This record gives sequence, C-alpha cells and structure tokens, in this order.
Amino acid sequence: MSLNSRLAELIAAQGPISVAQFMTVALLDPKEGYYATRDPFGAGGDFTTGPEISQMFGEMVGLWLVQAWADQGCPKNPRLVELGPGRGTLMADILRTARVAPEFLVDLDVVLIEASPVLQEMQADKLRSLGADVSWQPQFDDSLTDRSLFLVANEFFDALPVRQYVKTPRGWCERMIAAKDGELTFALAPVPLPPAAVPAGLEAAPEGGVYETSPAGTALAEDIARAIAARGGAGLIIDYGYGERTGFAETLQAVGGHRFVDVLAEPGEDDLSAHVDFAALAAAAKRGGASVSGPVTQGTFLANLGIAERAEQLMKANPAEGQNLLAATKRLIGNDTMGRLFKVLALMPPGMTDVAGFPP
Ligand code: SAH
Repeated sequence: MSLNSRLAELIAAQGPISVAQFMTVALLDPKEGYYATRDPFGAGGDFTTGPEISQMFGEMVGLWLVQAWADQGCPKNPRLVELGPGRGTLMADILRTARVAPEFLVDLDVVLIEASPVLQEMQADKLRSLGADVSWQPQFDDSLTDRSLFLVANEFFDALPVRQYVKTPRGWCERMIAAKDGELTFALAPVPLPPAAVPAGLEAAPEGGVYETSPAGTALAEDIARAIAARGGAGLIIDYGYGERTGFAETLQAVGGHRFVDVLAEPGEDDLSAHVDFAALAAAAKRGGASVSGPVTQGTFLANLGIAERAEQLMKANPAEGQNLLAATKRLIGNDTMGRLFKVLALMPPGMTDVAGFPP
C-alpha cells in the first residue's frame, strides 16, 4: 500500500494528524519514507547540498572544528558528531582536513546520527577507507554527553518536523492533515490554543497568518548546548532559514527533481523541509547554557574562513579545474545563490565569544 493510502487509513481511524506527524512519516517511515528509501542528492536526485558542491565546504568546516578544539586546549578523547550526514561527503572532507592536527584524530570518537539505513550504508562505504572509529545512532541522546562534543549539522534542522498554527477569528488553531475519500487535505483543529500557550510576538499576525515552530529542533539545540556547556566542544548549525521572523507565512515546502511540488501530493516521494528559525535555535542554545555566535550568512562565514584563498590554491595545483572551482565558490557564497539564504550558528562553551568566521 502506498504511504498516501496508509496515511489516509490512519487518519480515517484516529482523526487528523499534525503537520509534524505527517513530516515524520513522509520522511522517515522505515519502509516508504523519503530518506529511508533513496539517495536524494546530486544532479540526478532532488537537491544538492554545500558539501556535494565542493570539497572546500567540508575543508572550511573541518578547519573551524579543529580550531575550536585547539582554542580549548586540545582536550583528549574528543567526540565528533554529525547530524544527518547524507552521503558522508562532509564527514570525509572534515576527517581529511583534520589531518593538519593529528592529535585531534588520535582517540577521536566519530558518531553519525542517521535515521536512514540506505544512507548509513552509503556513509559507511565512504568513510571505511579513512581509518576513523565511526559508529551510528538514530538520534542524538545522553550517551553523547560524556566527552567534549564537536558537532556539525548541515541541512539537518530543516528536515525536522514543524508544527503550524493559523490565526483565525477564534484564536490560533493548529493546522492538521485530514483525509477525504482517500485524498489528504489540510484542515484546522477546531479548538484553538489556550491564550496562555500562545507565544509572545504573534499579536500583529493577520487573519490567516501562519506561525511555524519546530519543537524537535529547539529541544535538540538545547540538548547540544547543555553538553557543550558541561564538557566543552563546539557546535556548528548550517541551514537555510531566517535570523528574525518577518511576517507570518508558512515555509514548509516539498521538492522533487529540483522543483517545488505540492506538499501533500506524494508523501515519501518528495523531500519535505521548512526554513530554520535561527532566532529560536539561538534562544534554545542559550537556555542550554552555551555561548552563541551568529547567525551569520554562509557567505560571510565561508569568506571569513578563507574559501576564496583556498579556491586559488586549488586552482594553482589544478588549473584545468579553475572554472569549476570559481563556479563552486560563487554558488556557496554568492548572495543570489546559497550565500545569503543559508545561515551559520555556533554553539560554544560559556564565555567563548571570539569565534573564527563570526564577527566579534
Ligand atoms: N548533511 C548532508 C545531508 C542533508 S539531508 C549534506 O549536507 O549533504 C538530511 C540528512 O538528515 C539525511 O541524511 C537524512 O537521512 C537525515 N535525517 C533527516 N531527518 C532525520 C532524523 N529525524 N533523524 C536522523 N536523521 C535524519
């Protein structure tokens, strides 16, 4: 049975489900979920990410992590965690780059957080030859908080489920997914949020305005911050999203074959994601006790870390690649490509405010 029919049956049996539940099933259902069943990346897939555009992305991130480790007195037995490693390309580039600091790699425990068995296998293939001690977990949890924690997440938080609330004359009602004759449709919960549960700052919303929130994302940012505050380390969250909320539009989107498609049309077949609310992540990380830098744009971050200089170096070594390197650099830092839409947030131990790549 298709995921669409299974969801319609579930809804017929138990009533409408939240947008967050829909996203979770559509992306992660073990049999038919989007990530559970395919390699979505690259020209033949649905989307391309920074590390898949150029090795320079992972090199900059690798140098940043090693620098953060050195700035904290080179703690022994560090742990390197990546959330949602995709094809494993970013981690491979980080580990290769980290050879500049061999002591970082001695006793380094690498943990990949990946829900998809297909992608886990792909990551294992890519990383096998690098000699690192790598293990996998489906979720970030307390077992990862007993060492200094160096963590990176690129295009992970946008895949975490969001809940949506719509302003109506009777109050903020959660947006749900119902089913009619086997077809999935949007519907509103009949009962609004109790006024005490409505967050501050929503007063100006017009009727029909949407408030989107990712409780899974903020809870995770807080957990990571708590671990970094307690044991040292550094976290880098990179994603497309906004620093401050402007307006009340939804950002949930579906992408299939590099095109926007209808969110409800083919659950399991299209990638679902939402813009990341960096202000909410920053606030959650501060609650967890971390010092927070950013968000800055990806363009600023990569330029500050010297991506243009790295591109020149690579061009000298391999002039035939010149055009490709220029194009990749532009795509990663250009204002009308990824440079401005993508943001970078750093989570550091309390008091660490001078962070590479971020303005002081
Ligand atoms: N970081 C990679 C891939 C980003 S795509 C890159 O930059 O290329 C999102 C990744 O997160 C995929 O590997 C996907 O399988 C994984 N993922 C999505 N939701 C997840 C969840 N809730 N738990 C664990 N992994 C998840």
